[in-house]
Amino acid sequence: MSMTDSAGTQADAPQTDSQAAYRDELVAAGLLIPTGVDGLYGRGGVFEDVVERFDALVTVWGGTDGAEVMRFPPALNRKYFEESEYLKSFPHLAGTIHSFKGDERAHRTLLRRLEEGQDWTEEQAVTDVVMTPAACYPVYPTVAARGVLPADGRLIDVFSYCFRHEPSLDPARMQMFRMREYIRVGTPEQVMEFREVWLRRGREMMASLGVPLEIDVANDPFFGRGGAVLSNSQREQKLKFELLIPITSESKPTACLSFNYHQDHFGHLWDIRTADGGVAHTACVGFGMERVALALFRHHGFDTARWPAPVRAVLWG
Ligand code: ATP
Ligand code: ZN
Repeated sequence: MSMTDSAGTQADAPQTDSQAAYRDELVAAGLLIPTGVDGLYGRGGVFEDVVERFDALVTVWGGTDGAEVMRFPPALNRKYFEESEYLKSFPHLAGTIHSFKGDERAHRTLLRRLEEGQDWTEEQAVTDVVMTPAACYPVYPTVAARGVLPADGRLIDVFSYCFRHEPSLDPARMQMFRMREYIRVGTPEQVMEFREVWLRRGREMMASLGVPLEIDVANDPFFGRGGAVLSNSQREQKLKFELLIPITSESKPTACLSFNYHQDHFGHLWDIRTADGGVAHTACVGFGMERVALALFRHHGFDTARWPAPVRAVLWG
């Protein structure tokens, strides 16, 4: 995540206003369907069509690399989530799933509190399931469980809804959104090459869609005072790049694709070993499906039938 965000401070007020105004336009056009919660939307048919076409385009560019396809539900084994150390870095974004575990008496209390408009969640207890924060999270423990990597490592293709608790008026900052990802697991050389390839491909692919873009070094929004140190070091080491496209602001373009190099972080956590016995390195390229769709609607208009012919040809063939 970039250092800029849409928390809505005083200085950001004009930015927030234009974000809210654009969200209203998207809703009025039926592209997004409001639910009453900032960042939680239904999608109209035209919006979904663009997401599906873009998903297919990602496969056009990445589908011949031989990635193994895995599709997980938008939730994660809580044990994997705990092992991932996500709570160290992003406790403020995590979404955990709780469920009622009380007896009949507790149930009566729950209903009474609900009726009285009081907090009814006291008897909600944590389950074994946590919301997926990024589509690649289920992959690392899954790959680890298969044992030592083959000589050419692994390449995985995932697509999932993700949850992040970051309510915002910015339609490009949702609480539930989809990420398509390719994940490379292997030696440092294999993983770095993968990221180089996708930095190039990502630029070409998005340029073919006729949107203005730039690629820049970035950082994740690590929590707390120690977080700034982590963010700086991530930037200095160029571990994260983003492909940015203006959506609600020309001066603060939005990260639509991310290129992340985790070094041996996940390899260490789950003891993933390369064929030569080293600790595996990992990288992923993430495509923010909603953000790409929003970028296309921003630059080509809400009526896909009137999009430029070359863009229509790329998406609809
Ligand atoms: P940001 O800097 O804007 O918070 P990010 O770079 O941290 O986003 P990643 O964690 O790298 O995001 O996630 C991969 C991709 O998922 C991003 O490039 C973006 O397109 C998309 N994405 C991330 N957060 C959101 C969100 N809240 N709503 C919609 N899409 C998102
Ligand atoms: Zn990832």
